[in-house]
Amino acid sequence: MNNRLEKIRKLFSKYRIDALLVSSTVNCKYLSGFTGTSATLVIDPYEAFLLTDFRYIEQAKDQCPQFHIIEVSGEAHLSLSRLLADRGIRKLGSESDYLTYNQFTTLRDKLVPVKLIPVKGAVQSLRKVKDSDEISAIKQSMDILDSALNNIISQLKPGITEREIALNLEFFARKQGATGNAFDFIVASGPRSALPHGTASPRALQHGELVTIDLGVIYGGYASDMTRTFAVGQCSEKQKLIYNIVLEALLAGMAAIRPGVEAKGVDHAARSVIESYGYGSSFGHGTGHGVGLEVHEDPRLSKKSDTVLEKGMVVTVEPGIYLPGWGGVRIEDTVVVEERGCRALCGFPKDSLICT
Ligand code: ZN
Ligand code: ZN
Repeated sequence: MNNRLEKIRKLFSKYRIDALLVSSTVNCKYLSGFTGTSATLVIDPYEAFLLTDFRYIEQAKDQCPQFHIIEVSGEAHLSLSRLLADRGIRKLGSESDYLTYNQFTTLRDKLVPVKLIPVKGAVQSLRKVKDSDEISAIKQSMDILDSALNNIISQLKPGITEREIALNLEFFARKQGATGNAFDFIVASGPRSALPHGTASPRALQHGELVTIDLGVIYGGYASDMTRTFAVGQCSEKQKLIYNIVLEALLAGMAAIRPGVEAKGVDHAARSVIESYGYGSSFGHGTGHGVGLEVHEDPRLSKKSDTVLEKGMVVTVEPGIYLPGWGGVRIEDTVVVEERGCRALCGFPKDSLICT
């Protein structure tokens, strides 16, 4: 945590600010360790402050030893104004990705004479690169997905509904220690598998069709994300063909990952495989995204992303082909960028289309 404060302070000159106001829950947690849902941080070059209300004072004292804890009562901006005046802060950075326009203008007006300066993506830029504790938390979160899929596979039979599958996956994951889902699980069967984000419906699985399961949980505060596509009972040649194209794209994307590579290069590596088989227009989303405290965070692996990959980044690679009326296939691994390439944090098999 100490290290994180030092790193964020190094960005102050770039943004021309005297201090940073952090109001997003996730960034508060990243910088301070505070897991409550109501706090504001003020970080100046020398000290760090956490402002919260009566409910969270003891928790904040316990979780955030590097912060001075300030209890806020009544109008929050008065405590903030007092602190800024005491610390001689004139130019205060605020998180433009998280404050609504209304919140920004209200704060700007109430904090006069302090100048509020929108700062975009400062904390997120630190969060992109994970330390070893974070990687190990994400790995444990991913291990739960491996176990949950292993547990569900024998249940992927005609008659079970998508919602039952999602519920059973969640129940199993919770028993393994997951504190919640990272998103609503996607269980999309038959023609619904052509929906990239087909959340579980009451539809029952039928023999010979595809089912795509995309799941992620929270463990130790960290998200996980993985997708596998199965064939129910038996698989057709076309299903195998599409699966193998998507697999080839996934492996090409993973092979392109290493420090120094632009994220769009990874997208291109995966996308060009799908394009080479004539299915380019059936892969309409980005190839991947960062995973950490949030399930979708920077960096994005998309056509336009010029983020340069660094060791310690954790990203998904998740190409897919979606054919309306027929179905779709997506395969998704979450990987960590290492010195010479990347390492998958999930172990569930993907080498061929599994017929349940
Ligand atoms: Zn996913
Ligand atoms: Zn994903």
